[in-house]
Amino acid sequence: MSNAVLKNYINGEWRLSSASDRLPVHNPATAQVLAEVPLSPGDEVNQATAAAAQAFLAWRRVPAVERVQPLFRLKGLLEAHADELARLITQECGKTLKESRGELQRAIENVEVACGIPTAMQGTFSEDIARGIDEFMIRQPLGVAAAIAPFNFPAMIPFWFMPYAIACGNTYLVKPSEKVPLTMQKIFELIDQADFPAGVLNLVNGAKETVDAILQHPDIRAISFVGSSPVARYIYAQAATHGKRVQCQGGAKNPIIVLPDADMEMTTRIAADSAFGCAGQRCLAASLAVTVGEAKQPFTEAIADAAAQRITGNGLEANVQMGPVITAQSRDRIEALIQQGADEGAQVLVDGRQPQIAGLANGSFVKPTILQGVPPDGTIASTEIFGPVLGLMHVETVEEAIALVNRSPWGNMACLFTNSGAAARKFRSEAEAGNIGINIGVAAPMAFFPFSGWKDSFFGDLHGQSHHAVEFFTQTKVVVERWPKEWSRQF
Ligand code: NAD
Repeated sequence: MSNAVLKNYINGEWRLSSASDRLPVHNPATAQVLAEVPLSPGDEVNQATAAAAQAFLAWRRVPAVERVQPLFRLKGLLEAHADELARLITQECGKTLKESRGELQRAIENVEVACGIPTAMQGTFSEDIARGIDEFMIRQPLGVAAAIAPFNFPAMIPFWFMPYAIACGNTYLVKPSEKVPLTMQKIFELIDQADFPAGVLNLVNGAKETVDAILQHPDIRAISFVGSSPVARYIYAQAATHGKRVQCQGGAKNPIIVLPDADMEMTTRIAADSAFGCAGQRCLAASLAVTVGEAKQPFTEAIADAAAQRITGNGLEANVQMGPVITAQSRDRIEALIQQGADEGAQVLVDGRQPQIAGLANGSFVKPTILQGVPPDGTIASTEIFGPVLGLMHVETVEEAIALVNRSPWGNMACLFTNSGAAARKFRSEAEAGNIGINIGVAAPMAFFPFSGWKDSFFGDLHGQSHHAVEFFTQTKVVVERWPKEWSRQF
């Protein structure tokens, strides 16, 4: 794969992009160039959309029980190639092999849920809504839909949408992140083997120009976006301007609240995994920990210890617990934000800047970092750092902690660590975030629940995964039907 130019997959065949603009794809642990990704022009989006629109005419008429058969085959292929895919994810994205396997498993679970589409997209029927009249609602596919994906879960995120879209009878176009396009390239090789009809699933590599062509194409009916909030806002507005259905999952700043009655050993282990797992590059990463009352001292000491001990290195190595961040630019941005936090009054309790990692001098590494005493109105309290940096804050009551959660502009996830059912009940009811964890550090919904998100972390109404995806990828048609009795007499 070394220095290969990646291809697009359009109408069931691999095509070399005509783009003269290409970007190198790096291994962030070593800075080695793995391949080149073309920045496909709008014309190639047009080709993929035309193929998908043509395929839709037949695919929407294939019975749902038949449409899921290639998805069953794809599940088998993903499982059979899990090790190879996990290595690829680690190589281009940096996370550990264990994390890559976990993400792939989440992708596969979405295929499994989408295989239940014959039941999941059933309609409803009411007999005799008036004398001799029946009324029913059926779900029909929309047409061509598209996903625009971020870098941090190259396998999983397109699967929050793609299997549901095509199981519902739509045809599809995926635009992976230009930073991590290799995983989808490999997955589309498996899609090719799973025998979907040509044009049902298409892959177009690229960046902004490619995205803008998707946004403007009149035949693309629905767009699913996952990425940073400024881009999510842009996609949401543009898609609406062009009359499309749209769901945009954005960035986050996720707080975890630690009450004095929490099991400190368990809480620290889970909090460290949440803050430093995937090098903090998860939209559900804990990035603020708010201690309440007497939790402050034991939690601060334990989390500082856990941060300092985490083994950072190349995610391909078995003992490594945390890999690099995605790019050198990202590392520099994270380090600058740590400095800004310090300048605004936080104490750098554990400093992960400019680490020396043996044999990986060119990698983009930041080690786990803890900022203590983060001011509630400062930059760190509200900025998504997207790196292994945990800010610590302190309050005296659970009410104050909930108020702190709720004044945040973000609303992706909030977690509480406690032994108290009453506190947990209050928190889950009052905390303003779409995903809530109680003694859980990464409250990632299973495929049969929607992947929620509120406030500046989500733009739209229906989320990815589960019955939300089925609703997003179908339009309802209501039929009111009368068959007068006298017409039956002739038979
Ligand atoms: P990003 O916004 O930079 O890029 C996401 C996608 O948008 C990419 O495919 C990219 O090519 C495209 N893009 C980037 N800039 C664009 C522009 N100006 N116009 C049109 N398209 C553009 O995000 P990223 O850095 O790849 O991913 C990290 C972000 O994603 C973080 O903010 C993270 O919180 C968020 N994220 C959110 C969720 C969630 O479920 N809420 C899940 C994963 C990641």
